[in-house]
Amino acid sequence: MAFKTLDDLTDIAGKRALVRVDLNVPMDGDKVTDTTRIERVLPTIRELSEKGAKVILLAHFGRPKGERVASMSLAPVAPAVAKLLGKPVAFANDCIGQDAEDAVEAMANGDVVLLENTRYHKGEEKNDPDFAKALAANGDIYVNDAFSAAHRAHGSTEGIAKLLPAYAGRTMQAELEALGSALGEPVRPVLAVVGGAKVSSKIDLLENLVSKVDMLVIGGGMANTFLAAKGIDVGKSLCEHDLADTANRIMAAADAANCEIVLPDDAVVAREFKAGADNETVALDAIPSDGMILDVGAASIATVTSRIDAAKTLVWNGPLGAFEIAPFDKATVAAAKHAANNTRAGKLNSVAGGGDTVAALNHADAAESFSYVSTAGGAFLEWLEGKELPGVKALEA
Ligand code: AMP
Repeated sequence: MAFKTLDDLTDIAGKRALVRVDLNVPMDGDKVTDTTRIERVLPTIRELSEKGAKVILLAHFGRPKGERVASMSLAPVAPAVAKLLGKPVAFANDCIGQDAEDAVEAMANGDVVLLENTRYHKGEEKNDPDFAKALAANGDIYVNDAFSAAHRAHGSTEGIAKLLPAYAGRTMQAELEALGSALGEPVRPVLAVVGGAKVSSKIDLLENLVSKVDMLVIGGGMANTFLAAKGIDVGKSLCEHDLADTANRIMAAADAANCEIVLPDDAVVAREFKAGADNETVALDAIPSDGMILDVGAASIATVTSRIDAAKTLVWNGPLGAFEIAPFDKATVAAAKHAANNTRAGKLNSVAGGGDTVAALNHADAAESFSYVSTAGGAFLEWLEGKELPGVKALEA
């Protein structure tokens, strides 16, 4: 897809840039406890500010559902942004109307102001054209740097993009380029590794992936549903027996699309779901009736790493086992480290994201070495499902 970036902005000194960012940071009282999301939007804020733009930040916080809920104010986030940015960030009590107008009026070139939670207005989530117009009234251009909110067609992500010249910010640009390189026009062969708890939450994702990738490794609890559909007795393992038809349909679609589905070759089973539980590695025809599969075994790890070696592009979502409780993190850690090594060696373009995946890769000390790790959650998953993201679509040049 074609979209404009900050490189297309010339002569921006003095212009009012409305910048949609993701500042939905975890808080403990008035204190920001994890600044990852703030750090991600700093490059765009800095670049615009240094070029003399008036940088007006738009963001949501929590789910106030159109009401002014005091605990969901962005006011305490402004000083946290200022601290990391290294310059003052003013705050306006509302994102539209007189308060916003006055705050913008008071700005000098290069200044940064944060406007109050866009979701304090019902028009935000309804994508009400009048609300979008009221937002747009304070800007000359619009920059979207919040990929994580791009799966929602809201006033500050979609409506406004149609009213002003619209650009992707640096983080949005990096995300779109990484995703494009993984599933848009990837270097083949492409491998997808999908794990996690359940098939039911990832049916659309699996169906989309089998039509796009050359190899699909299925691991984690969700692999049990596929194994059971193939007639394997998975004992007391997490398994959605009612989804056997779905699993068979996905395997048939993969066959038709020439996508190799790679299921586990063996299983690490325990009697209890707890760290340090007694466990054994067994063949698939020897899963004890009172046992639970909590990870894949050494034979499966060897298969997964061989597929990683065969791939030039990797898309990863979901752990291969119950990685939060040792030693059932073994396969996830081994595969993640292998992908990280191949990436560092320049042999692999590796893109990962969604839910627990970031935590799993961090746990394996692998995240830093991946080509791109998306922290976008829902938006990343919808992209893996092949859905059009309204906030991205609205940026199309
Ligand atoms: P998801 O959010 O769908 O990516 O699922 C992640 C969760 O799946 C993690 O909390 C893992 O502990 C869990 N998980 C992975 N493999 C298994 C398994 N074999 N049995 C039970 N839970 C699992």
